[in-house]
Amino acid sequence: MSDTSRLNQATIAAQAAGAVDPQSGGVVPPLQMATTYLRDAQYQPLRPDNIYLRDQSDIVRVAETVLAQLEGAAETLLFPSGMAAIAAAFRTVPNGGCVLVQSQIYWGTTKWLRDFCTRRGIELHEVEASDAAAFEAACAVHKPSLVLIETPSNPWLRITDLEAAAKAVHAVGGLLMVDSTAATPVLQKPLAAGADIVMHSATKGINGHSDVLAGVLATNDTEAQIWTDIKADRHDAGAVIGPFEAWLLVRGMRTLPLRMREMSRNAQALAEFLDQHDQVEAVLYPGLPAHPGHDIATRQMNGGFGPLLSFIVKGGADAALAVAGKLALFHRATSLGGVESLVEHRHTIEPHTGIPEGLLRVSVGIEDVEDLKADLIQALAV
Ligand SMILES: *Cc1c(COP(=O)(O)O)cnc(C)c1O
Repeated sequence: MSDTSRLNQATIAAQAAGAVDPQSGGVVPPLQMATTYLRDAQYQPLRPDNIYLRDQSDIVRVAETVLAQLEGAAETLLFPSGMAAIAAAFRTVPNGGCVLVQSQIYWGTTKWLRDFCTRRGIELHEVEASDAAAFEAACAVHKPSLVLIETPSNPWLRITDLEAAAKAVHAVGGLLMVDSTAATPVLQKPLAAGADIVMHSATKGINGHSDVLAGVLATNDTEAQIWTDIKADRHDAGAVIGPFEAWLLVRGMRTLPLRMREMSRNAQALAEFLDQHDQVEAVLYPGLPAHPGHDIATRQMNGGFGPLLSFIVKGGADAALAVAGKLALFHRATSLGGVESLVEHRHTIEPHTGIPEGLLRVSVGIEDVEDLKADLIQALAV
């Protein structure tokens, strides 16, 4: 593979960081499904970097290279899901340690962390990270060794100032990990803002086609103890992504910058439309000037505010469910970042987490925005 890291994102993505198949001459890297690799008559591996599939493979390396170049990271590690990536990072924390996590983020993260920390005797503190003073105070009091924030957060769309968060965590000797899933490497660069590790559920916008489960961690400090430990954990405990998933990911990422641009444009237009609608109580989208995190988001995001938006329907759960039920183009399903638009009634899924009963979370796809708007108009009509 050629070094394409000096090129711009759209070029790196479209050309998969230069990956081709030199053997066949194909312009697409091959999908090699072998779990094990040949040795010669002297019992030396034909390719020293290819021994066994759990260790590494060409197509996983290609996908990791593309991701590293898009993120501006020195190194990335792929995992079979976003949760596997988060778990690999937190498994490095010793028993009796102390960690801090943003409250009201992706529920799967909160739930797993609570269970894991209880089991391992790790002190877990939860704080609203978009409240900079509360976050800084929590860091100062608890001195956590590892901190996880999520911006924009899911499904509240809260925005945390990345530079300020990194300063607060580093002041007490901790490491900052940022779940940047909703922004993808296209709209936001947490490492440049001082984060130590960036995490994405690549299941979402990075793959973008709702057909691959994957997660990724990225860093610029490849010598850090935590990175060495995470790498060893993935290698030894075996949370590796399969070749077909990695191949699909490489294919999906070719259009990532294009998709994020269009999704952000569509989401912005729908947020502005919903903001003016009689039946809508509130719209949560950082692209709206009235959003409390708008100024920070404008500073630290580039090229749009992403596909994720929530709005609260007047009339509570029944009214929101009626709207979701009438939508014809938005698929009623969880997840986000795919080319097709999705709608979700979070309160039905997580009834005890403080989600407003009237909240609908939407992932805006790349359909024609006028068609999406017309669908919302008919669904919101009383
Ligand atoms: C989906 C998601 C995850 C979990 O990723 P999986 O690939 O589903 O394991 C973590 N964080 C955020 C913000 C997500 O949206």
